[in-house]
Amino acid sequence: MSLLVTGTVGIDTVITPTGRADDVLGGSAAYFALAAAKFAPVRLVAVVGEDFPGAFRNLLNSPPIDSTGLEARRGSQTFRWTGKYLGDMNERESLRTDLNVVAETPPAIPPAFLDSNVVFLANTHPTLQRNMRQQMPAAELVVCDTMDLWINSEQEALLQTLAAVHGVVINDSEAVQLTGTTNVISAGRAVLAMGPRFVVVKKGAHGALLATADGVTAIPAYPSERVVDPTGAGDSFAGGMLGYLAAEGRFDYATLRRALIRGTVTASFTIEDFSVKRLEALSQTELQQRISEFTEMLAIK
Ligand code: AMP
Repeated sequence: MSLLVTGTVGIDTVITPTGRADDVLGGSAAYFALAAAKFAPVRLVAVVGEDFPGAFRNLLNSPPIDSTGLEARRGSQTFRWTGKYLGDMNERESLRTDLNVVAETPPAIPPAFLDSNVVFLANTHPTLQRNMRQQMPAAELVVCDTMDLWINSEQEALLQTLAAVHGVVINDSEAVQLTGTTNVISAGRAVLAMGPRFVVVKKGAHGALLATADGVTAIPAYPSERVVDPTGAGDSFAGGMLGYLAAEGRFDYATLRRALIRGTVTASFTIEDFSVKRLEALSQTELQQRISEFTEMLAIK
């Protein structure tokens, strides 16, 4: 099945308690695309400015990613984000966000991409997410992400987007904020009542919860000893999950549970280095080995 992602592609500066990386590749759609590409071909739709480095573009255009939908807009500047992690890196502070080209006219979806079966609407303004979704009415699986900014400032638009998608991937604090429910399972069920068929609540180092009408599954995070930069973990999780679903071509509960494991393992690699460096270097052998190891770890009889 064909898989499309739309979201931000940008230039990040990341500061952690042990180091920093300046002007590196970032953005929700960049992480998603590089993660999902480990499982299936990916169509990327995003807009950057004329300052976007050629090396980043080349990386995003490496097979099986098709970046025909990555527009480089002349006269515009690329989205930039600076973030800082505190303590054990479970807490993050956005020091600076320059929306730049992301605040302008959205990118066009290339006509050849409009038949995509699986669509991920990565984090951006909910009205823009809904607009993209409406352009692909026949998509069989549409999943979105969101963030505290939109939950606080655009709740009405967000509720409309949630009613128009099949799945949602959000983190636990966002689920609580959105539903007003502090229990993660109740929050998951409350999100289901807003329209989607499934919701994945990510709990960072504490794992993830999948809630559907067919059942609830909770899994731990992969036990990582080496956390260098958690940026992009959420988008890589979604990329691993949806890449697997697109490759399988099925979205039943059993397949969603297996996809949860792929998402978790893919994210566990992303956090081992700054930016997308670890995803870039990740081999199929390493990925499949860790998936087997994690699956075995969970199979307690
Ligand atoms: P994650 O750690 O998975 O939540 O995603 C991190 C990525 O989100 C970074 O690479 C940032 O460039 C990007 N990002 C930060 N703020 C925003 C925002 N307001 N809208 C969209 N993407 C953002």
